[in-house]
Amino acid sequence: MAESNGAVNIGPVDAALVPRFAGPSTFARLPELGVVGTADVAVLGVPFDGGTSYRPGARFGPQAVRAASKLLRPYHPGLDTEPFDVQQVVDAGDVPCTPFNIDSAVDAIEQTARSLQERVGRIVTIGGDHTIALPLLRALASRHGPVALVHFDAHLDTWDTYFDAPITHGTPFRRAREEGLLLDDHTMHIGIRGSLYGRDDLPEDEEMGFRTISAMDLDSLGIGGVADVIVSRVGSAPLYVSIDIDVLDPAHAPATGTPEAGGLTSRELLGILRRMSDTNLVGADVVEVSPPFDHAEITSVAAANVVYELLALLAKSHSPEPAPARRAEVPAQSSS
Ligand code: MN
Ligand code: MN
Repeated sequence: MAESNGAVNIGPVDAALVPRFAGPSTFARLPELGVVGTADVAVLGVPFDGGTSYRPGARFGPQAVRAASKLLRPYHPGLDTEPFDVQQVVDAGDVPCTPFNIDSAVDAIEQTARSLQERVGRIVTIGGDHTIALPLLRALASRHGPVALVHFDAHLDTWDTYFDAPITHGTPFRRAREEGLLLDDHTMHIGIRGSLYGRDDLPEDEEMGFRTISAMDLDSLGIGGVADVIVSRVGSAPLYVSIDIDVLDPAHAPATGTPEAGGLTSRELLGILRRMSDTNLVGADVVEVSPPFDHAEITSVAAANVVYELLALLAKSHSPEPAPARRAEVPAQSSS
């Protein structure tokens, strides 16, 4: 794992010199991996949507989220950290994967993530549809062993097959569990809602060991209550956070493959993530942004800010100050 060790990290292009609408098209205008060589964190694009069941288009997610990330600034006041300064963050480009064969694409994603892991400490991926979580978890488990999972989504994504296909955007977490990639009793869904195929869907998922906080549960638990459940459920286990942008209400994320009414606001999602700084985050993805359905970059701006929130969480593990007081301070901070 690459560590900064006090060396000066190369951050985004200086917005005082190059206006934000100009400059590189990398995430947050960060340097490319090839320029830096190794990094603490890599942002990786996976432009694959061959596993979608309804609206396609998430293959255009990485480029749209990068375009919407140009306004991200150096300092995160909510977590009191500078995510591009305390750690070296790079853009590792896109995984070259075929749009014509799911198995080949999934294999290419896993191999790319595995070789990237040799050069960087952590990977935050921009999808792509949710299929990509499976090969990313395979790569991650090859390094850390089974991991805890916090899965933000309107949907369970633990279905078995669809049109007989075992690997789709509705099945990654059932497959991951079958393959032993997940830590039993450390897996959660957040934001589940909407109609289901049948009354057995939820109990079946529960039998697989997942715990669910539905979108409606958020009303009674509140942002802090949800975060408390998450933190106690995952403990200090290596944690993967998978965020399907459809966890947000279509008002906050209209550009997604399978929209469901009654979702989270972007403030609620950012607020929950912000309270997870005591977890041991080792990898994350933000998936299912389908730019052809977007308006005024609503969805890609939300996704870019969610990626920034994840980078800030990773930055906290690089911060020199001790952890205990952090969570207590959070409510008093104004958000960015
Ligand atoms: Mn979903
Ligand atoms: Mn999903």
